[in-house]
Amino acid sequence: MEKLCKYGTNRVITPKGVLPQAATKINNDMNIFDNELLIDVITLNIDSASFTQIKNACNNDVDLMEEMILSIVKEKGKMQNPVTGSGGMLIGKVKQVGSLFPDQTLKVGEKIATLVSLSLTPLVINKINSINITNDQVNIVGTAVLFETGIFARIPKDMDEHLVLAALDVAGAPAQVDKLVKEGDTVAIIGAAGKSGVLCAYQAMEKATSSGKVIGVVNEESQIQDLKDLDLCDLVVLADATNAIDVYDKVIKANNGPVDVTINVVNVPNTEMSCILITKDTGVVYFFSMATSFTKAALGAEGVGSDVTMIIGNGYTKGHAELTINLVNSVPKIKLLFEKKYT
Ligand code: NAP
Repeated sequence: MEKLCKYGTNRVITPKGVLPQAATKINNDMNIFDNELLIDVITLNIDSASFTQIKNACNNDVDLMEEMILSIVKEKGKMQNPVTGSGGMLIGKVKQVGSLFPDQTLKVGEKIATLVSLSLTPLVINKINSINITNDQVNIVGTAVLFETGIFARIPKDMDEHLVLAALDVAGAPAQVDKLVKEGDTVAIIGAAGKSGVLCAYQAMEKATSSGKVIGVVNEESQIQDLKDLDLCDLVVLADATNAIDVYDKVIKANNGPVDVTINVVNVPNTEMSCILITKDTGVVYFFSMATSFTKAALGAEGVGSDVTMIIGNGYTKGHAELTINLVNSVPKIKLLFEKKYT
């Protein structure tokens, strides 16, 4: 009998020897191995960098977007955007629990959200019911497989499942802010008006306290007022994150110097240098954006003689789902914002 791999390498078709995330094609046969979980999928939350790329490539045409999503999954056996390399997450109902899957308390029919990327999740889409062009969510009829090491969260019974999906999609970001920001820090959030932007801004304000400062960078005039109304930043700066000099001039002026921590939560490429230039040499840049280029960040920092510490935005950090669900539930202004957009 084939030896089971807890990371799902049994399902890698090409190239051999890599793990499912790096594979170009995986086996999406829905007859599960004993150490896997089978899920009836309700909704995919495509990550924002991927969804934006698909939306732009299809000129906002939902029919074309549907075709593109179906063809990616057909070709790769998973929803991994070939340009951004990224995925997203899903919610669904447990359909079958393999006899060696670690959590045997899961019941058939129970609603869960996967906390591993769609870019490694075997997926079959039978039908796309609808694409919500404003919030990155795609309602489908389909099935998916979670590997032995695949983490998941049960959907709280008292919360809307689409809201939970939206929040958990970016749970790593506020949870990392919680670890990175200290009392008295100055923090810049690039893309502060977005989904992870508001969660990170809230968490940064909590951690930096009134002795620190949180500066939001947004690219639309209306977002300045939105963030002020929500009281989520001490200062909001209007600048295009792809224009490093513009961001540098405005943030340095607003803060009277560089910041201690920068959080990048935009959904477009070419924003690495904005973050590096506005951050102290001794500071930290946290690149959560999936449109981040390692080469641009590493060589760009070297090129301007910056010794800044740069962190790759791991989507997972211990306690991330609990922190994020608790944040959304306990902060009425954020809950309201999420309800408006995702339910
Ligand atoms: P989101 O809600 O779409 O927010 C992105 C924000 O960036 C929006 O407010 C957007 O403004 C802003 N923005 C876009 N272009 C900009 C520019 N040139 N200058 C300034 N701001 C700009 O996205 P999200 O769901 O929070 O996700 C944020 C990022 O995290 C994405 O790249 C996503 O793929 C990534 N992500 C990473 C992980 C991980 O594991 N690391 C997991 C999930 C998601 P407009 O709306 O005006 O364009």
